[in-house]
Amino acid sequence: MAKVITAKTAGFCFGVKRAVDKAFELSESGGEIYTFGPVIHNDEVVGKLKEKGVKVLNTEEELAAVKSGTVILRSHGVSRHIIELLESNGIDYVDVTCPFVKRIHDIVDKESLTRQIIIVGNPDHPEVQGIMGWCRSKTHVIRDVADAADFKGEEGVSYCLVSQTTFNYKKFEEIVEILNEKLYNTLIVNTICNATEKHQAEAREIASMVDTMIVIGDVKSSNSRKLFEICREQCDQTYFIQTLKDLRLPGGTSVGSVGITAGASTPNNIIEEVQNYVRDDI
Ligand code: SF4
Repeated sequence: MAKVITAKTAGFCFGVKRAVDKAFELSESGGEIYTFGPVIHNDEVVGKLKEKGVKVLNTEEELAAVKSGTVILRSHGVSRHIIELLESNGIDYVDVTCPFVKRIHDIVDKESLTRQIIIVGNPDHPEVQGIMGWCRSKTHVIRDVADAADFKGEEGVSYCLVSQTTFNYKKFEEIVEILNEKLYNTLIVNTICNATEKHQAEAREIASMVDTMIVIGDVKSSNSRKLFEICREQCDQTYFIQTLKDLRLPGGTSVGSVGITAGASTPNNIIEEVQNYVRDDI
């Protein structure tokens, strides 16, 4: 029987739980329910919602074509123009943007009246695209240390720097340090979500103590992939799986002590399944 340590922070964060609960609640309402983009990056949960009739709208064109029903705006948040589009088309919507993401929208909305905005994050991520949609001035996205090193500030321009909520805290600090050396008037707001920091810190700590680390998450989930990166830095034998059936531990040798964590969009039942298997069967 392997010694197993499961992270207390593994699985749904507050913002994702709120969005998923709302989607399941509305799926029982009997009306036409849509989500703009999958409500979370987890195929299993999205599949269950689909069985209950919840349809996913993947593009703005699909959203614009909706004539009736209710659209759920997920925890990642959306651009201002998406809300304007729904309102001008008279379509009901339920906005379950996580309050921590909404806070960033409010910051950039206000600060972009007088400053250019720098967002530290992945420009392809819907959360970052949503944040960009609330900026009124020139906006820059810095995805890594190399981008920060290449960034050329404009003389006389003030900046406001925010971060994607799921960005790695250590990398954020490195980027801020580089930018601080070349920008003079920059308002830096650390908007990394507390849930993410705690999640990452606990994963790092557990990975540094165990022989084998398992990160459970959907391949499309950026916070899960970041947890994997963090754990692999501490523990060479780190596995990234979506569900128990992906787990291929080396046969014949003992895996030693095992740590388990999971991305913010991984349902509890999947975590428990992996935990029970590792604890009882290997
Ligand atoms: S990670 Fe944080 S910001 Fe993102 S949805 Fe969860 S609670 Fe909200």
